[in-house]
Amino acid sequence: MTQFMASRTQGDICLFGAPFDSTTSFRPGARFGPAAIREASYGLETFSPIQNADLEDCSFMDKGDLELPFGDPRPALTAIEEYTAGIIAQDKIPLMLGGEHLISLSSLRAASHVYKDIKLIHLDAHADLRDSYLGQKLSHATVMKRISEVIGLDAVRQIGIRSCTREEYPNVKRLRSDTKAIIGWASGSPCYITCDLDILDPSVLPGTGTPEPGGLSFSELIDILVPLISKLNVVCMDIVELSPRLDPSDVSSVVAAKILRECIIALNNNTD
Ligand code: MN
Ligand code: MN
Repeated sequence: MTQFMASRTQGDICLFGAPFDSTTSFRPGARFGPAAIREASYGLETFSPIQNADLEDCSFMDKGDLELPFGDPRPALTAIEEYTAGIIAQDKIPLMLGGEHLISLSSLRAASHVYKDIKLIHLDAHADLRDSYLGQKLSHATVMKRISEVIGLDAVRQIGIRSCTREEYPNVKRLRSDTKAIIGWASGSPCYITCDLDILDPSVLPGTGTPEPGGLSFSELIDILVPLISKLNVVCMDIVELSPRLDPSDVSSVVAAKILRECIIALNNNTD
């Protein structure tokens, strides 16, 4: 799929990588995620038996990776926001590959300027609702709190959360939902789907910065993502937190690439 992706310069779905992990707290390396997904995709077929559809028939392009500064996260976040805004201005759907989860704040900001009543669907093992983490307001552990300050907590729903602080727990209970309920709730609204790959069980995807036992199987995640994308008006999406060097088997990157394939196909059905 890699060579195939690289040859894609036109399309309605615009793939790009944001190789950023400046605020990762536990095990850094998510900056290598986008390149690893491309590399792993080489071993995958373009055809999906899951959806009986082929990437070759999908309208997507791969813009490669952004060049982002390290250290202070703000210049990188601004660059990602501007880049996402440029894609949306061309009437295309940004599909961002992380990188750590903080990058979703940038894309969400860009999308929320155009889509005023945007709803965010957050797939993750972690609530990411802290107000600050180790003294930092901008962190992968605070990203949903920062996003809720942009669009309001009522515009957010979560799936898969199994780790949070005592302080986060009331909001975790409030935002907890499932596929069917979310489709009813978000139907007709522009939607942003953010998928933190640590929603998967660490036995499925060990290559992530903050692994959390007790997670989903690959098929369980596909059974959530494909209906959500197919049935909702998804205007922006991201897949974040693959940290490929933490998994010497490279299976985590293959899992991420296969999830990406299914997301592109589902998004394409959506744009038809
Ligand atoms: Mn997260
Ligand atoms: Mn997480």
